[in-house]
Amino acid sequence: MNCLFCSIIDKQIPADIVYEDEHVLAFRDINPQTPQHMLVIPKQHIATLNDANEADALLLGRLSLAAAKLATQQGFAEAGYRTVMNCNAHGGQTVDHIHLHLLGGKALGWPPFTDQLKTV
Ligand code: 5GP
Ligand code: ZN
Repeated sequence: MNCLFCSIIDKQIPADIVYEDEHVLAFRDINPQTPQHMLVIPKQHIATLNDANEADALLLGRLSLAAAKLATQQGFAEAGYRTVMNCNAHGGQTVDHIHLHLLGGKALGWPPFTDQLKTV
C-alpha cells in the first residue's frame, strides 16, 4: 500500500516526530497553519473517519488523549488549542490516513472559515 503517513510510521520518510507510543505517532505538519501545528495519527492504517468502526473506538480516543498530552509537553495546553479531523473532499482531507490536527500557539477564531459558511 502506498501511504505517505504509513511511510512516516515506518521511518521510510523523515518527519519531525514529537510523540510516539505503541499505538500513536505525532509529528510536526510540514505546512504549519499555526505556530504549533502537529498531526497525531494511529499506527494502524485507517483511510478516513468513515472507514473507522466500533473496534477502532479505543484507538480514536487515544488520538485525542495523545493530542492533550502533546499540548502539555509542548507547553500550550493551558493556553488552549484545537483538534480537527478532516474527512474526504468537503472536509479538506488530502492524506488518506486519518490524522488529528493539533493546532495551537495562538488564539484561533471561531467559527472557523466564516467566509465559507453558507447561510441557508
Ligand atoms: P489534511 O488536509 O488531509 O487534513 O491534512 C494533511 C496534512 O498533512 C496537511 O496539513 C499537510 O501540510 C500535511 N502533510 C502533507 N504531506 C506531509 C509530509 O510529507 N510531512 C508532514 N510532516 N506533513 C505533511
Ligand atoms: Zn497509512
